[in-house]
Amino acid sequence: MKLNSLVQWFLKQRASLPWRPEDPHAKRDPYAVWISEVMLQQTQVETVKKHYIAWLKDFPTVYDLAQADEENVLLHWQGLGYYSRAKNLHKAAKILIEKYNGDFPKNRSEIEALPGIGKYTAGAILSMARHESEPILDGNLIRIFSRLHLWNFLPTSKPEQDIYWDEARTWSQGKNAYIINEALMEMGRTLCKPQNPLCPNCPLQQECKATSENCSSQYPPRKKSIQETWHGVIVIIESADGKIFSVQEEDTPFLKGQRGLPLFEFSKAHGKGFPGKAERWITPESIEEYHWCGAIKHAITKYKIECQVLYIRSKDKSKKSSHWVARANIKQAFANSLNLKALHKALED
Ligand code: SF4
Repeated sequence: MKLNSLVQWFLKQRASLPWRPEDPHAKRDPYAVWISEVMLQQTQVETVKKHYIAWLKDFPTVYDLAQADEENVLLHWQGLGYYSRAKNLHKAAKILIEKYNGDFPKNRSEIEALPGIGKYTAGAILSMARHESEPILDGNLIRIFSRLHLWNFLPTSKPEQDIYWDEARTWSQGKNAYIINEALMEMGRTLCKPQNPLCPNCPLQQECKATSENCSSQYPPRKKSIQETWHGVIVIIESADGKIFSVQEEDTPFLKGQRGLPLFEFSKAHGKGFPGKAERWITPESIEEYHWCGAIKHAITKYKIECQVLYIRSKDKSKKSSHWVARANIKQAFANSLNLKALHKALED
């Protein structure tokens, strides 16, 4: 009964999205499901829409993605954040070509072994593309399950994870897991929202303990946030012809693989002389002048970032390479807010 109400509700108000075929019962391209699900993992639906369309236009198949160079892949990811997702997509695409003839493996555990694919994404590919009775579990489903049963815990420990995954399995055990899974996600996103859930419109209202006890907003319990402070230096090197130097950042825990301004960790005890670590990108002989511009603060995931901004003017003109970005293009090229704050501090303050 609850499954029927859920499916009927979903089919009635199913929003049109670029990754959804018009026919809700159609099997989907596993590659397209994979791309959309990875994009949606940490990014809002509205932002994903245009990126998804552009991605599928330029990399319509797993072969196109595997053959693209990494820089181009990362360029297409600009604006979605968490660049490690794009790097993993690229790595996994190569494995799919080399080991599996460009298709996803049959077995769930082999899919989960691919870079960047966890239990959730594997379940989404298997249920939505292959119509297998496979569960998914994401934040939306966790919230719904916690409220339906008044579970006052998150899936943190193994036994707690088992409870949530067992519940997800019961929902997905029939033939229409492809639609149940998607309906639950949609319900979590549009009705069973973290704050002020729209219970009167909910197809599961009759079954929901939280709504009958009028305490939906207290479930699930909040995650304890553990914030780490990261101190660093962000370096703006301007060439004699007015271009800004960029790198593929590997050195920080929060901007992995993202193109941006050079950045390195430093201790609070660091003085205000020229930091030797910046010599990775410019030799002392090439420096026309440098100065410290002050500090910026920013937060990415669990990191509270405090960075000193170092501006360096080079005596040399920029070389012909993708490392150098014309000032007119810096907003597009340095598309993360930490970089934009640093550029603002150094060039406009
Ligand atoms: S009735 Fe309300 S709290 Fe319960 S599942 Fe539906 S939207 Fe969520």
